[in-house]
Amino acid sequence: MAKLVFLGTSNAISGEDHENTHMLLVGEKRTVLIDCPNSPFLRFQKAGVDFNRLSDLILTHFHPDHVSGVPQLLMNLWLMGHRQPLNIHGFKFTIDRIEHLMDLYVWSEWPDFFPVKFFRLPEQVLVPILDADEFRILASLVQHYIPTMGLRIESIRSGRILAYSCDTEPCAQVIELAKGADVLIHEASGALPGHSSALQAGQAARLAEARSLYLIHYPTGQFASDSLVAEARQQYDGPVTLAEDYMALDL
Ligand SMILES: [Zn+2]
Repeated sequence: MAKLVFLGTSNAISGEDHENTHMLLVGEKRTVLIDCPNSPFLRFQKAGVDFNRLSDLILTHFHPDHVSGVPQLLMNLWLMGHRQPLNIHGFKFTIDRIEHLMDLYVWSEWPDFFPVKFFRLPEQVLVPILDADEFRILASLVQHYIPTMGLRIESIRSGRILAYSCDTEPCAQVIELAKGADVLIHEASGALPGHSSALQAGQAARLAEARSLYLIHYPTGQFASDSLVAEARQQYDGPVTLAEDYMALDL
């Protein structure tokens, strides 16, 4: 059965036990990393997933806490003899900058580098990213400072649906992405421009009629709050969980 593993659950300021938000979708044929802060190699090992199985990388937006690990990921894969092609998906805004970043590392001269294919997606709603026989992934432009995508992940086999808000203010696109989802994974950075509070995450889960809510991208360490779940419950009657690093959800 496919599963989603939280490799990190913190907002932009990571804590000792909470890496920046990123997650891994593990299927039988495809392994998809969703965002890439810092260096994910050790996190793959701790999650028990073979680093070399990585087939796809989805980059939600070009902020450092979501993409800073891309050069390190590509170099680590290369040094470990990765051979299979890696597909990197994102909005044009993101992919243009990732290519530019890699050019600064002169990666065109890294010998015997494995094939990397870039997919530039239009900034629209419910844009298909992946339509494999295991799962289907759709992206929608949400409301953050720069072009940012939320995701809807549907298992073809089980029919289960996971939705991920990514970094966003409350917006209709998240409600649409999460319509009838089994799980809505929603950010809870706080009621700041470009972000949402736990209360607003609860509101989104209620409006989308999602069956459960996981809070992610929340303040940790010295900024941690222990009232996030209670705040979300003020707006939403279903089960609410604070996502933690290495927690896994069946898809
Ligand atoms: Zn961001």
